[in-house]
Amino acid sequence: MGKSSKDKRDIYYRKAKEEGWRARSAFKLLQIDEEFGILEGVKHVVDLCAAPGSWSQVLSRKVYLPAKVETSGRDGDLPLIVAIDLQPMAPIEGVIQVQGDITSARTAELVIQHFDGCKADLVVCDGAPDVTGLHDMDEFVQSQLILAALTITTNVLREGGNFVAKIFRGKDISLLYSQLKIFFPTVTCAKPKSSRNSSIEAFVVCEGYCPPKDFSPKDLQKLLEKPSSQADDLDCCSSWLEGPNKLYIPFLACGDLSGWDADQSYPLDASIQTLAPVQPPIAPPYRTALDLVKHSTKT
Ligand code: SAM
Repeated sequence: MGKSSKDKRDIYYRKAKEEGWRARSAFKLLQIDEEFGILEGVKHVVDLCAAPGSWSQVLSRKVYLPAKVETSGRDGDLPLIVAIDLQPMAPIEGVIQVQGDITSARTAELVIQHFDGCKADLVVCDGAPDVTGLHDMDEFVQSQLILAALTITTNVLREGGNFVAKIFRGKDISLLYSQLKIFFPTVTCAKPKSSRNSSIEAFVVCEGYCPPKDFSPKDLQKLLEKPSSQADDLDCCSSWLEGPNKLYIPFLACGDLSGWDADQSYPLDASIQTLAPVQPPIAPPYRTALDLVKHSTKT
């Protein structure tokens, strides 16, 4: 499709070019802000998965540039905007760029370092994997991005701060809502007008960050770290989780505990006959291969 036919078909694509936004996504953040006022009073922001940079442009125009005029450019008083993406991005005034993968612990640390002890008022994440068209797979990869975004958020967001993230409204989305509600008393699913109705994309707007008592962001961050050499130790995850992050559920051994052991080999004595399977598979996936072999040996 040529540029002019896309201009005709997609009003936000055309408007983005008219208003100087790098992508039509700018309108999604602007419309979320119209509804929720998330940019009001914000001085420190993280923009996760920021390339090509239209959300960072919104942050620069609405947060950085007005403050620059107000403070006559005095460095110490200027807002801090940190943008991260796998892809490099052309510079944007007032935006510090970090190139990296938000699902890696190293990138999370770099972002945290930029904040150098101070906290963010807002974290936004418009991350999307390259969509495969396999819905379950796409939703899974998207959920990994949200987990990474939440991990960075719990490290840098101030209490009372807000978090906005793109989601795919799949069948298991209420699990994500419940998880977010652990950290934010108000979680809303927002669908800006500029997001196509035909798309399952939406945005969670999570307001008033309030982690559970004794919650340690370090524990969540460890989920991003590479598995240790004990990765095959089933208990390796639970061994470092502490406080409210360590969850216990009942473990119940069932059946006669002195009966046959499924891990043990028992000798076959002469009285034992080998039996045919009770019901062989009726349409096994290897049937075609067997037929081909049978056919080729006949000819
Ligand atoms: N908000 C952006 C804007 O307004 O220009 C658009 C973001 S685009 C829809 C999604 C971005 O997510 C892509 O630039 C992609 O590189 C980034 N992304 C996907 N997975 C990522 C990851 N693991 N770490 C960092 N960025 C990632």
